[in-house]
Amino acid sequence: MPYVSAKEMIQDAKNGKYAVGHFNLNNMESIRAYLLAAEEMKSPVILGVSGGTAKYMGGYKTIVATVTSFIDYLKISVPVALHVDHGTYEEVLDAIESGFSSVMFDGSALPIEENIEKTRYILGLCREKGISLECEVGAIGGEEDGVAKMGEYADPNECAKMAELGIDMLAAGIGNIHGKYPKDWPGLRFDILEEIQKATNGIPLVLHGGSEIPTDMIKKAISMGVCKINVNTECQIAFTQAVREYIEEGRDLVGKGFTPRALLAPGLEASKQVAIEKMQLFGSVNKA
Ligand SMILES: [Zn+2]
Repeated sequence: MPYVSAKEMIQDAKNGKYAVGHFNLNNMESIRAYLLAAEEMKSPVILGVSGGTAKYMGGYKTIVATVTSFIDYLKISVPVALHVDHGTYEEVLDAIESGFSSVMFDGSALPIEENIEKTRYILGLCREKGISLECEVGAIGGEEDGVAKMGEYADPNECAKMAELGIDMLAAGIGNIHGKYPKDWPGLRFDILEEIQKATNGIPLVLHGGSEIPTDMIKKAISMGVCKINVNTECQIAFTQAVREYIEEGRDLVGKGFTPRALLAPGLEASKQVAIEKMQLFGSVNKA
């Protein structure tokens, strides 16, 4: 079964100068959408689960059972990693115990020493079980400018300390933002990206907030060492917009159009298309 840790796919991406897409699960439809997108594109894929999604979908064990069953049922042949997105210490331990193949421990709000101490413990568990580990260091800058948030920047020295532990990938702020980007966003800071790559001896980097970043910046970031890109907002918006159109066109009022399966089908298709476009942009097509 192609249910794997993200370690190898990330290393392959790093060596091959492309990035693997990380798509957040929100419901049953999203599992099917991203698995089918990956299979059609012959691309590796990382399915992300936030704490909110874990609660909504019945906990980590339910999600592991559901995703692995879907892989089997849909006859998926490409590598799939099931990954905790921005996990707290407790969430990560729960997910490891529940059978996730990859985790992100987000200790970025903790003092760096505590972040490192907890990361070291989690890394030990991950190594025992063959689970890949992503970590994040805190942000520097990132203050409000009075109008809009301009993104956050990681400290290359802290990145180096984290990389030395031997984690598989590092999330580091280079001006990227979760959710919608402000109109006057100054763009990614490639100088900081370069510093981080130098300071960490070229650790695989993760770019969060991958929705709405212009394609030329995405391509440049990949060429400089980013090999996992998280996309969520864009897929969610596509999903909801497609469902809204379905209702606005009155299709729920025709025949059996009222069934929840029929209602959500356009959302599934729309979010799948966004995932396919991202896989093409990230260069992961035919890399499975
Ligand atoms: Zn994130």
